Amino acid sequence: MLNSRVGTTLLQSLTRRTIPRTARSAISSPIFASPLHTSAFFSSSSSAQTSENTPKSPNTNIDWRAMAEKDINSYLRQTHDRVFEHNRCWAKDKKAQDPDFFVKLSAGQNPEYLWIGCSDSRIPAEQITGLEPGDAFVHRNIANLVCNTDLNVMSVITYAVEHLKVKHIVVCGHYGCGGVKAAMTAKDLGLLNPWLRNIRDVYRLHEKELDAIKDEDARYNRLVELNVYEQCRNVVKTACVQQSYAKNQFPIVHGWVFGFNDGLLKDLEIDFESILKDIQKIYNLTES
Ligand code: ZN
Repeated sequence: MLNSRVGTTLLQSLTRRTIPRTARSAISSPIFASPLHTSAFFSSSSSAQTSENTPKSPNTNIDWRAMAEKDINSYLRQTHDRVFEHNRCWAKDKKAQDPDFFVKLSAGQNPEYLWIGCSDSRIPAEQITGLEPGDAFVHRNIANLVCNTDLNVMSVITYAVEHLKVKHIVVCGHYGCGGVKAAMTAKDLGLLNPWLRNIRDVYRLHEKELDAIKDEDARYNRLVELNVYEQCRNVVKTACVQQSYAKNQFPIVHGWVFGFNDGLLKDLEIDFESILKDIQKIYNLTES
């Protein structure tokens, strides 16, 4: 069993020990660096659906470098077990609210939305939008990219449009995106290079506008928005979206950006019709 004092107990038992170099470098990676990344996924405080009995995250800023090996193992076991404890509480709550909840859930899915978001642990699609299980088909990757050679995202879009018949496709980026920031650093990031290259391409496409923004943070924020815009265009370029829209008038593609400072979503008000028209000059795939 885990309780809110676990983090404190662990900290109290710390002894000076170094952790393996690989673990240290993973923790300090520029993509995943975040003061919340060790605990945000497990935190129950951001969910309005959880009860008072739901186990709380320790929310401690643990100094990994000072942690004994046995304490790291213990911490890993506890953070693993917390997920199952949280799951039991969630299932109990749901059943208490609606005894048929899981009967309905097992009957199948009919989501209205396809959500394509960043893998960042701080932006859980359902929690920030109030959507319930069954409302959204979700795909997430680093920096919410839609690449035409990525079989994963292409399969997700095709399945969502052709089989689930979603009405809205949302590409949701976020300010402070580590993936976008990493893409703009003059650094070899190994396997991540080809993935992040897509963001450098977005910069190149909008170089004039971005270079004209003198403030670095403002330029970075604008790149986040333009990345969302370009990924929306990539969604519109797919055959399934074009063909479904010609036949059904849906799905509509939306570009949104989430802000950590106020927790609000900003609608970039992408002009779907005009993007579609523009794109079909070259990428018209409506005839099957
Ligand atoms: Zn991100």
